[in-house]
Amino acid sequence: MEQCLTQRQREIVELAGRLADEFAERAAEHDRDGSFPFENYERMREEGYLGLTVPEELGGMGAGLHDLILAQERLAAGDGSTALAVSMHVSPIGQLASLWRASGDERLADVLRRAADGRLVYASMSAEPGDPTLMSSRTTAQPVDGGFRVTGKKIFGTESAVCTEFSTRALVDDPERGPTVIFFRLPRDVEGMTVKETWDVMGMRATQSNDFELDDVFVPEEDVFHRYPANHFDGTMLKTVWGWAMPTFGAVYLGIGAGAMAFARELALKMKKADNPEVQHLFAEMEVLLETARAVLHRHAHEMETGALYADLPVQEGMSKAVLAKYVATNNACGIVDRALHVVGGAGYFRRFPLERMYRDVRAGPIMPYTNLEAHDLFGRTSLGIEIAPAVSLPDSHRPQTSGIERAVR
Ligand SMILES: Cc1cc2nc3c(=O)[nH]c(=O)nc-3n(C[C@H](O)[C@H](O)[C@H](O)COP(=O)(O)OP(=O)(O)OC[C@H]3O[C@@H](n4cnc5c(N)ncnc54)[C@H](O)[C@@H]3O)c2cc1C
Repeated sequence: MEQCLTQRQREIVELAGRLADEFAERAAEHDRDGSFPFENYERMREEGYLGLTVPEELGGMGAGLHDLILAQERLAAGDGSTALAVSMHVSPIGQLASLWRASGDERLADVLRRAADGRLVYASMSAEPGDPTLMSSRTTAQPVDGGFRVTGKKIFGTESAVCTEFSTRALVDDPERGPTVIFFRLPRDVEGMTVKETWDVMGMRATQSNDFELDDVFVPEEDVFHRYPANHFDGTMLKTVWGWAMPTFGAVYLGIGAGAMAFARELALKMKKADNPEVQHLFAEMEVLLETARAVLHRHAHEMETGALYADLPVQEGMSKAVLAKYVATNNACGIVDRALHVVGGAGYFRRFPLERMYRDVRAGPIMPYTNLEAHDLFGRTSLGIEIAPAVSLPDSHRPQTSGIERAVR
């Protein structure tokens, strides 16, 4: 169904659409070769897409979370891999922008200006086996003069092929505060980092999300931008990483679903199948899946933009709502692509058509964090009032001046 958009949103979606249509032409080749789409990054740099979420006063396009979701859905309809890869840049940059708005920190402003003019490509590469909820880390950080020495193995380094710097995490055994998770920035060419070419996978092949190792890497104290006690939910992480990444991942996978649906529609009309009641039923179901997912994503964006989700709710409750946005969008996306395959039939099985790639790409959605299993655990226990982990509240400096719900009503 058509979306109701403001003039500004229409312009952002049109930009994403132009890029998506162009990237779609080379997506099959990158998928087949498992090659990273560097030329797509050049185009996104030229068109200002890499500065999408940088505030306008710092040279960017000023997109908020809602705009970002709309843009990423449209981009992914053409090329899921590029859309997922660039999420790891535009979403963290949007998070840094929200921190800059609260603090006015000049160092953050510098990062954002460099993202706006395309000199900086950011990546968020903190995954490790066994702890996708970021509560702890197997990567260790030893305190040394002026910072830390970090050693560990990381997986799923999306954008490691193109980023200029990235954030990741490690665990410090702090003698005073106890085990503490630290998040820090590293330059991509830092001494002691080695990328392992392990990315030979089912889908999202052009993301080149390779493993990498950090061996005794030095992290200056000033590059540690956040810390919280291990095995806690953290209010600042909800406002930033979870509040932004969950809907952004959701939007990417939903976009793949929307792309599959568009392909199925084109084929159904061409093959004169539109009068078939079964085909009509499949389109009705796909519309319901698409629109309900959009509704949940857009509600989430509204609750983030008013601040209600992270400032007014207990942290575990807010986490549940953030994860719900990703859960609904990624699972509905799989449901849409499955139905699109039924509409298209045998042609959908051929690699010369994009549906075969979309079918594989969309499967990564429910296994990215929060995975379906982790989400069920979070939703079920939160619904029953069971505390999963203690929470660290959002600091007052990160809260909106008035309550989010009041702000929404005004
Ligand atoms: C295409 C793709 C790109 C990615 N890109 C990035 C990236 O750029 N940066 C990044 O940081 N990460 C990225 N990730 C990785 C992702 O963030 C996860 O950390 C990673 O998938 C976890 O690996 P795993 O499934 O081996 O985890 P494991 O933690 O070993 O999980 C294995 C299984 O156990 C289940 N499980 C684990 N904990 C629980 C629990 N508490 N309750 C119930 N079930 C549980 C999981 O659901 C899963 O089924 C990407 C993932 C994919 C698929």
